[in-house]
Order: sequence, then C-alpha cells, then structure tokens
Amino acid sequence: MDFEWSPEQRTAQNSVLEAVRAAFGGESAGPGPTGFFTGKDWRTLGDLGLLGLCVPTRYGGRGLGALETAGLVEAFGRGCPDTGLVFAASAHLFACAVPIAEFGTDEVRERLLPGLCSGELVAGNAMTEAGAGSDVSRLAVTAERVAGGYLLNGEKSFVSNGPAADVYVTYATTDPAAGHLGVTGFVVERGTPGVIVGEPFEKLGLLACPAGTVTFENCLVPAEQVLSAEGTGGAVFQHSMGWERACLFAGYLGLMERLIERCVDHARTRRQFGRGIGGFQSVANRIVEMKLRLDGARLLLHRACWQMDQGADSVLSVALSKLAVSEGAVASALDAIQVFGGRGYQREHGIEAFLRDTVPGTIFSGTSDIQRLLIAKELGL
Ligand SMILES: Cc1cc2nc3c(=O)[nH]c(=O)nc-3n(C[C@H](O)[C@H](O)[C@H](O)COP(=O)(O)OP(=O)(O)OC[C@H]3O[C@@H](n4cnc5c(N)ncnc54)[C@H](O)[C@@H]3O)c2cc1C
Repeated sequence: MDFEWSPEQRTAQNSVLEAVRAAFGGESAGPGPTGFFTGKDWRTLGDLGLLGLCVPTRYGGRGLGALETAGLVEAFGRGCPDTGLVFAASAHLFACAVPIAEFGTDEVRERLLPGLCSGELVAGNAMTEAGAGSDVSRLAVTAERVAGGYLLNGEKSFVSNGPAADVYVTYATTDPAAGHLGVTGFVVERGTPGVIVGEPFEKLGLLACPAGTVTFENCLVPAEQVLSAEGTGGAVFQHSMGWERACLFAGYLGLMERLIERCVDHARTRRQFGRGIGGFQSVANRIVEMKLRLDGARLLLHRACWQMDQGADSVLSVALSKLAVSEGAVASALDAIQVFGGRGYQREHGIEAFLRDTVPGTIFSGTSDIQRLLIAKELGL
C-alpha cells in the first residue's frame, strides 16, 4: 500500500493547477461566473487535456486510469474558481466521452472522440425525464427499430451542457416489457433532423453550465450509433455513472481544499474582540472539521478509483466516496459561511457560491438517498 503520488504524477497535477489558475483566475475571490462557459473556455480545457483525461490516446485523449484522472480533476477543481465549468467538463468527459470510447462503434469513436477531447465539440448526457429520475428503468423516450436505424421520440428533461452541446449520449426504451433490459444507449448529433434543444433553464448553482431539455421528434438515428448493443443501455449508463460518481467528484475535493484555504486566510486576518477569530476554538474547530471531511472523502475517493483501475467490483467504494464527497462539500460550504459571517452571505465575497455549487452534488449522478440504498444493498440489507 502506498499513499504517495509519484513525482511525475505530482508534476502533472501541479502543472494543471498552475495552467488552470492562469487561464481562469484561480486566485480571484469574485462572485463567480456571470454567464455560460464560452467556446474559448472549452478549447482552453481541450488544450490542457482536461476534456479527454481517460480517453485512449489514439482518439486524442491522455489514456489515464481512474486514479490519475482523479488527481488531475482535483487539481482542476482546486485551481478553477468556476465550479460550473469544472462540472460541465467532467459531465462531458465521464457521462459522454467515456461511454462513447468504451461502447461506441469504431466509426463513431473515430468521428467524434478527437473533437470531444480537443474542445471542438461539447457533449451532454440525456437520461433524466419528467417521469424518470432516480428510477431510470422505465423511460418514456422510445426508440423504434426501423429501416436504417431507430426512430427516437420523447423528451429528456435535464441535460447539463444540453443547450451548448453538439453531441448527446441518450437512452431510450427499445423493449417496454423488458424493464431495465429494454433500455438502449444512443449517440445523437445535434444537427440530426428531429432533435429539438430547449432554452437553458434557471437554476441554483453551477451557473456556467447551461442545462435544458432535449426533445426527439421522429429522430432517425443510424444503428451504428447504438452504444454497445440493444438492451444494454442500463449497464452502459451505470458504467458511466461509476466514472462520474468517482472522478467527477474529485473536482469537489479541489473545491473543498480551496474553501479551507479561504477560511484559514480569513480566520487569520479577521479580528474581533482584539484578536484573530482563528484563535477562538469554535471558529478553528469548524475549519478542523472541514479538513477532516476533505481528507476522509479523498481517501474514499482514491480507494474507489484504485479499485476501478484494478477492474474490481467498486459499487460499494464508489457509492461511499460519492456520498462522503458530496455531503462533505455541502457541510463544509455551510461551515465556511459561518466562518465568514455576514461576508459569507454576500455574493461579492464568493463564499455563498460554494454552497450553491455543492448542493447539486447531492442530487446528480444518483441522489444521496440512492447512494445509501446501494450501500445498504451491498451490506446485505
Ligand atoms: C445540477 C444537476 C445536473 C444534472 N445533470 C443531468 C444531466 O446532465 N443529465 C441527466 O440525465 N440528468 C441530470 N440531472 C438530473 C439528475 O440526474 C436527477 O435530478 C436525479 O437523478 C434525481 O432524479 P429526480 O430529480 O427525478 O428526483 P426523484 O427521483 O423524483 O427523487 C426525489 C426524492 O426522492 C428520493 N428517492 C427517489 N427514489 C428513492 C428510493 N428508491 N429510495 C430513497 N429515496 C428515493 C430522492 O433521493 C429524492 O430525494 C442533473 C441534476 C442536477 C441537480
């Protein structure tokens, strides 16, 4: 057992941290993004290799395993003050590029992956529907086998990156009688006739990442754009969620680290009752708890990624990791608001954004309740 990164891995992480800080102003304490990410932001991420970390090198990615990917995503999350951008890039990579790389046909991989890695293309994962959130075994979106492919019909209700995306990884019912074995995954390009992209809707946080509906109306998708095979969509989706629950949340470790730095700095400089507030045990202990949550969550995340790299069954480790990181991040964001007092509540100091950006982490990629359900099942309950 070895808890240390190699010198090469540290160098790679530091170089991502410095590059992201230089590109996106990691030291700024402003109120956060005022608009959606731009094409320039996206291409910068592509140039830094962050959109293709775990995609094979032959398609323009860096070919890394889960653990090394997580180390670089953490550096990204630590250096980039715009958590919506970190989330957008990670959702693009783990929920879209990964299933295309692992389950797409050669033709689709060769056509789309280089652009997805370079930042020329944006991808969105379209699974959730109005009637299918935590339970995605009964999808109202249907895919009917016709000459030349499948005809998709129905609406996906919450697609991160959706309004900006060029490519969708989506899932539809091909056999209503077969439950989760009747779901099939598809790659659908935005320009395909019958794809209707909704306007971005308003939301609490992750503001740089636009999200909206995607509707399919008699949308003909060639059979070559099926992921894996008909009826395997549930497994394809769960595989991509494994990557997302483990590696996307490494970005939140970086956020938690950044939050601790901000709190330590504030507690050392803010004076009340004639002394620095960090000298009050109640204030110091809040920051101690933040550190405890971060280090505990990071160990769980690294174990989950390590197991993924070993090809071992990682369902339990991944669920524990996702729960610890997402809930730890919300608890630490709340603690940080207390440490900053009234300034923590004012938008201009950039602390309240941590709360708005962490709360959704307890909902997407499977809610906290669903992670607990998975853990209980793994325990034999
Ligand atoms: C920021 C953000 C980004 C997202 N991005 C995407 C995206 O890119 N693509 C996409 O497809 N979707 C996306 N989603 C949607 C997300 O996947 C769903 O919101 C999530 O799966 C929960 O589904 P739901 O909202 O329908 O809630 P529901 O499933 O209706 O759940 C409501 C409540 O009931 C609880 N619950 C449900 N079932 C159980 C159970 N069996 N046991 C215990 N409790 C249960 C849940 O935990 C929750 O508290 C995103 C959501 C957010 C917030």
